[in-house]
Amino acid sequence: MRLGERSVYDLCRENIHRALVGLLMLVVAMLLLSGQVGVVTQGGGQTLAEPVAPLPAMVQGNAAWTIGESTFEGKFPEGMRFTIAASSSAGRITSARVVWSHAPGNNTQRSRGASFDEVSGLWVAVWPHDRGDVPPWVLVRYRWELTDALGNRYISAERDEVYADSDNAARWHSAESEDVVVYWIDLPDEFGQQTIQAMAERREFFRQAWGGSLPYRPRVILYGPTALPEYEQALGRPARAGAGITTGTTSEDWGGTIQYARLADSAYGMSFGTVLHEIAHLYQGEFAHLPVDWFVEGNAEFFSLARDTDYRVWGRQRLLSGDPLSFAHGFSIRGRTFRDGYQLGATVFEYLVDTYGLDAHRRVWELIGRNVPALQAIEQVTGVTIAQFERDWRAWMGVDTPPPTLAPSPTPPFDIYSLPTPTFVAPGS
Ligand SMILES: [Zn+2]
Repeated sequence: MRLGERSVYDLCRENIHRALVGLLMLVVAMLLLSGQVGVVTQGGGQTLAEPVAPLPAMVQGNAAWTIGESTFEGKFPEGMRFTIAASSSAGRITSARVVWSHAPGNNTQRSRGASFDEVSGLWVAVWPHDRGDVPPWVLVRYRWELTDALGNRYISAERDEVYADSDNAARWHSAESEDVVVYWIDLPDEFGQQTIQAMAERREFFRQAWGGSLPYRPRVILYGPTALPEYEQALGRPARAGAGITTGTTSEDWGGTIQYARLADSAYGMSFGTVLHEIAHLYQGEFAHLPVDWFVEGNAEFFSLARDTDYRVWGRQRLLSGDPLSFAHGFSIRGRTFRDGYQLGATVFEYLVDTYGLDAHRRVWELIGRNVPALQAIEQVTGVTIAQFERDWRAWMGVDTPPPTLAPSPTPPFDIYSLPTPTFVAPGS
C-alpha cells in the first residue's frame, strides 16, 4: 500500500488472495482482540531460490504421440483459447486439458478441460475471462495434458505467453529486466524505467532479506490518470467508493501488482515507494498469509526507498505523543493514524536488521513460514523476549519509557475491515 497524500480508502489496496482468506482473518481478528498480534499463518514453510524455468515435455506409458501445431490466443478482457492437434498410436485421446499458471513456482495453477472440435480436428480449451480474475499482461505459462484410451499420457513442454490487452496495444508500453516485467499506459516512460531501476537497486537487498528471489518474475502494471476505465476493468470493479479510490491490488495468484497513478503521483514515489512495498508483499506471500496488520504493512514499507519523512524521527514523535502505541495494542493501519502501522512498523524491522543483521529478517520469515507466530519468531531469532525487544526498539528510537500497557477489555463485535479499538490505559494511570 502506498503512503502519501491519500485518503483513508486508499489503504484498500487489498490483496485478492487475502480477500479469499477473509474467513481466516475473522479467526485472526478474534486472536487480535485477545491481545495477540499477527500470529496465525498458513502455507509457506519454504525457502526461496531462483525463478523457475518452463518444464520440458514428458511422456508416460509407451504410446507414440504425434503432436501437431498448438496455438494460444489471449485477449484481455475476453479470455483465452488454446488449441492443439494430437494423436496417440495406442488409441483415441479420451481427455485433454490445459494447465497454466500466471506465477510459476508459487503452486497456484488453473486448468481447463478441452473438447474435440470435429470440424478442425483440434482439441480446444477456452477460458472465458471472469471479471476481476486477472489483469492484462500477466504471464500465461501453460502445458497440455493428454490421455489416451489406454491411459498413456503426454504432457507438453511448458510455453510462456502473455494475456494481452490487444485493443489498447498502441497505448501500452513495456520494459523488462531480470527483476521485473513492467507495463504502463497513459504514463511517461520514466514510470517504467524507474520501476526497472528501483527493482535493480533493491535486488540484492531483497535476496538477502528473503533468502532468494521470487520463483517468478513479478509483473508491475501501471495505469495513468486518464486510464481509469482500463484500470477499473483490470480491477474488476469500480475503483471509487465515497471520497476515496482503490489505488491498487497485489496478488501472488497472478504474480504482480496493478497500480493507478494519479496526477500528483511521481514516477519516483510509484517506483521506489509503492512498487517496492508491493513486491515485498509478494515475498511475504511465499512464506505465509498473515492477517494484514502493522507487522505485514510495516514489513512491506521497510523495503520502500521513497519516503517523505525520516520514519525514525517521525516515529519517535509518535511514541512520545502519549497515544497507546505498543506491540500489544498493535499499530493502526487504517484511519487517520494509518501511518503508525506503516512507518512505525517499518522502524521495527529497521531496528531488527540494524541490530541483528539482514539475515535475521530472513530467519524471522522462515520461522513464520513454519507457522511460528510472528512475534515469537522475533524472539527465537533475537534470543530476547518480545517485551525486551520492544523496549530495545523504543530505546533505539530514542524513547526511554516502557510501552503503554494493554488494559483488559470486553470482546466487542467486529468487522474485519474495521477492527474496533480496545480501551487502553496509559502507564501510571
Ligand atoms: Zn501494503
